[in-house]
Amino acid sequence: MHNMDRIIRAPRGNRLNAKGWVQEAALRMLMNNLDPEVAEHPQKLVVYGGIGKAARSWESFERIVATLKELEDDETLLVQSGKPVAVFKTTKDSPRVLLANSNLVPAWANWDTFHELDRKGLMMYGQMTAGSWIYIGSQGIVQGTYETFAECARQHFNQSLRGTITVTAGLGGMGGAQMLAVTMNDGVVIGIDADRTRIEKRIETRYCDLWVESLDEAITLAKEAKEAGKALSIGLLGNAAEVLPEMLGRHFIPDIITDQTSAHDPLNGYLPAGMTIAEGERLRSANPQEYVKKAKASIAVHVQSILDMREKGAVAFDYGNNIRQVAYDEGVKQAFDYPGFVPAYIRPQFCEGKGPFRWVALSGDPADIHKTDEAILREFAPNERLCRWIRMAQDKISFQGLPARLCWLGYGERARFGKLLNDMVASGELSAPVVIGRDHLDAGSVASPNRETEAMMDGSDAVADWPILNALVNTAAGASWVSVHHGGGVGMGYSLHAGMVVVADGSKEAEARLARVLTSDPGMGVVRHADAGYDLAIETAKKKGVHMPMLGQ
Ligand code: NAD
Repeated sequence: MHNMDRIIRAPRGNRLNAKGWVQEAALRMLMNNLDPEVAEHPQKLVVYGGIGKAARSWESFERIVATLKELEDDETLLVQSGKPVAVFKTTKDSPRVLLANSNLVPAWANWDTFHELDRKGLMMYGQMTAGSWIYIGSQGIVQGTYETFAECARQHFNQSLRGTITVTAGLGGMGGAQMLAVTMNDGVVIGIDADRTRIEKRIETRYCDLWVESLDEAITLAKEAKEAGKALSIGLLGNAAEVLPEMLGRHFIPDIITDQTSAHDPLNGYLPAGMTIAEGERLRSANPQEYVKKAKASIAVHVQSILDMREKGAVAFDYGNNIRQVAYDEGVKQAFDYPGFVPAYIRPQFCEGKGPFRWVALSGDPADIHKTDEAILREFAPNERLCRWIRMAQDKISFQGLPARLCWLGYGERARFGKLLNDMVASGELSAPVVIGRDHLDAGSVASPNRETEAMMDGSDAVADWPILNALVNTAAGASWVSVHHGGGVGMGYSLHAGMVVVADGSKEAEARLARVLTSDPGMGVVRHADAGYDLAIETAKKKGVHMPMLGQ
């Protein structure tokens, strides 16, 4: 069959296709990343975030699948930028897969070098959870986006987004979550995307309420909903670099302005103004340099418009796509006048080791996730914010691919919940094992000076030892698969980050691994921020007994 027609879907149920549940989990999660319900462009092996891929080529995909099926309980598969390169004998407690994606020696760490190696078939872009096989669709970001907008509401709009209009762009795999996150906070949002198919996907998965092609109509609908205090998400077909200047021309200033196009990758992630998708595709392959030049010029216009809206009273924040850096390099010297979302809204959570924790039911049965939802509500009943989130997620989030749940748990909570999940598998309450993981955008697993580590209080934004230590300690602790990537979120040269996944198969060995990994991993978040001098992290370390020699404990 031609690869363009292939449909990949993870096996369901509790029959093994591999020699153990950890290998089986890796196999199912790789396939799940490429499920058409989950991935943005599965025919091209692209999962999300511009060209974030799950495997380097279809041939590599086939070899990974075949190798995972044969892999023994004491062997480890090595994957280099999406290609399986070796299997070594290790131990039962070692990871079954180790992955390194898109890493370049620092002086060569730029898109030009990467694209050249990519064209030669020597590399792939792993983004964050694409190349580390723990992407769960837009749900993976929606609570982070919800928390971001909730904190924005607390700081600027008297606790709620009711009666406010947010304007953003980019309704892709991650960006699409903005629509639901704003309405969950009771606000109105206009989300601009240049690609009709992406807007349609958000409508199908219930992330977006409706969509229009005319700016006038979008503004009228948004104003009506704002007046009525109703939550509403409106997709608008258009190019942000054209629509934002038009909004300014009409003196339409939203209450909040942000953006989540894939501006981190001007060649593959941002459509220049004045072009259709088809024209963009033609120019991209005929003359990539010209494409990048045009995309960067449009990004400069886009960011200048955000700055102008901010000047006129809108709250502006960067949403983690490095758009400010691209505009700055194009001469928009004020680009960094507005803050990134981590220092503005999220960092206190990182100080407690909190971040986008998730679990996936390998059975494929939604009932398994519903049972785990009940377990969270029972186990963490005093945490009202968390319980509110779980109830909202149950009500509003459609599963994509294997049923999954995400919630921001911190140090202590993750280990506690991991044991509970393993017990539920052991007792047969859940019909098959569960995979537990997180985004690389987590408390202690990323160095990214324009995003997760922007404006650290000790100035250590660019120190990249932390994600490396994170991957090493999770490997030592017995995670099921561990990955080290470069360039996720913000593009080549701007980030290093690590992923981890650990399987709860109900065994005693898994119980011990879960206890270790789900302590060391969020522990790195507490340590990273305590080391940088954040009081909340130091307090958390002291209260919870995280051993930090320099803190005298
Ligand atoms: P994606 O590539 O799936 O989607 C990008 C979308 O932007 C596409 O739908 C595309 O049509 C649209 N687009 C491109 N140029 C446009 C233009 N000029 N006008 C309007 N729409 C345009 O990417 P994604 O997975 O949604 O990620 C988006 C960005 O967010 C990436 O840069 C990613 O690295 C970043 N990201 C941020 C977070 C976070 O927590 N803040 C998390 C993950 C990813």
